[in-house]
Amino acid sequence: MRVVVVGAGLGGVAAAVGLHRSGHEVMLCERGAELRESGTGVVIMPNGVRALAALGLADYVREQATPAVSGGLRDWRGRALLVTDAVQAQREVGATVVVDRAELHRALRAPLPAELVRTATPVERLEPDPTGVTVISDGHPLTRADAVIVADGIGSGLRGQLFPGHPGLRRIGRMDLRGLLPNPPGLDVTGLMASIMIDRRSGAMFGLFPVGEKGLYWFTDSALPATPPGPDEARRQMLSLMADWHPAVPALIEATPPADIYVDPIACLAEPLPSFAAGRVALLGDAAHAMTPDLGQGASQAFEDAAAVTQHLTDADPADAIQRLLHYDAERRPRANRLMLASSRQSRLTSQTGAAAWLRDALLRAIPPRLATRQLAAIWHA
Ligand SMILES: Cc1cc2nc3c(=O)[nH]c(=O)nc-3n(C[C@H](O)[C@H](O)[C@H](O)COP(=O)(O)OP(=O)(O)OC[C@H]3O[C@@H](n4cnc5c(N)ncnc54)[C@H](O)[C@@H]3O)c2cc1C
Repeated sequence: MRVVVVGAGLGGVAAAVGLHRSGHEVMLCERGAELRESGTGVVIMPNGVRALAALGLADYVREQATPAVSGGLRDWRGRALLVTDAVQAQREVGATVVVDRAELHRALRAPLPAELVRTATPVERLEPDPTGVTVISDGHPLTRADAVIVADGIGSGLRGQLFPGHPGLRRIGRMDLRGLLPNPPGLDVTGLMASIMIDRRSGAMFGLFPVGEKGLYWFTDSALPATPPGPDEARRQMLSLMADWHPAVPALIEATPPADIYVDPIACLAEPLPSFAAGRVALLGDAAHAMTPDLGQGASQAFEDAAAVTQHLTDADPADAIQRLLHYDAERRPRANRLMLASSRQSRLTSQTGAAAWLRDALLRAIPPRLATRQLAAIWHA
């Protein structure tokens, strides 16, 4: 079959490789002038690693795996609230790996022959008819396809065309900062690794993960000010908000060059989509189920989508495409939408303040590590 993939983010690239390897004639269209992924680190959960393995793309992430450390939730001073037994989790469901986003993207796209990729090619519209889909770019027909995989990200323009009644994105009033840096010499972060620190006074959060042997990935989550700040101002605000946190927190933010800090207002789909398939077109990744980053599942879900769409289209011929994409929808939509809603719940839980947050912290301290680990394992078991 001739399959067009729209969008060369992590999800689109993984799908394009999977479909190409299973023998389809693939065209990957990216609106950007070049193939690249910018920004810091990304946490790939065990289910994401498994999906990459199904696509034959897990070598790079497996090489980056570091020994498991017990993480979980801590308060702003670094005192444990909820400890997870990472060694047990790793034994039961596999490793969580944190990687450099740009390097991951490079590794995923490496198997894709250059002639299959069209950069500077924004897809504006899809025109389906009984025998296929015409892909429109720059006001002109670009090509015909038997199936189109829409992977154009959280701001997907094609999602609104396919589901005109859908309300689109919802801003949740939070912003995240992210940084990636080499281990600063002399800074001891051993007890904080793989942990998320939450502050019941402000509702802010700071997470810290190892990247390979030598790097650290950190992120913050806090209320979005009325005027969204630029990177320098956001960094200044975060240093002031977290000045009395565990000393490693302001030290790490301070040690990250401002130009290497990414600031994102957080949004998710206002409502789950009614389907991930519409005739010969299927949606994948953030285009299908943009979720808040609170469970670290966005990319892993995109990889599960890519593996599933590849599997469902294996051996398909043009006459099968519609039916096969309905099977993809039936497999992927319930799980991805469940995680999208669970991520929003997690965001509300960790950003609580006042009496509700005090009660939350007391309850978190009472949860035995084995139970917390089992709950995480349930998410990671695809
Ligand atoms: C602050 C933050 C932290 C996060 N941390 C994690 C994490 O640790 N772990 C995790 O799993 N997830 C995380 N996520 C989510 C994760 O980044 C996304 O879920 C994932 O990158 C989505 O990939 P995608 O391929 O669906 O979309 P994208 O990566 O957004 O790619 C979409 C691509 O489509 C292109 N495009 C758009 N429109 C068109 C068009 N019309 N024509 C052609 N091309 C087009 C874009 O240029 C882009 O290249 C985080 C998100 C945020 C905001």
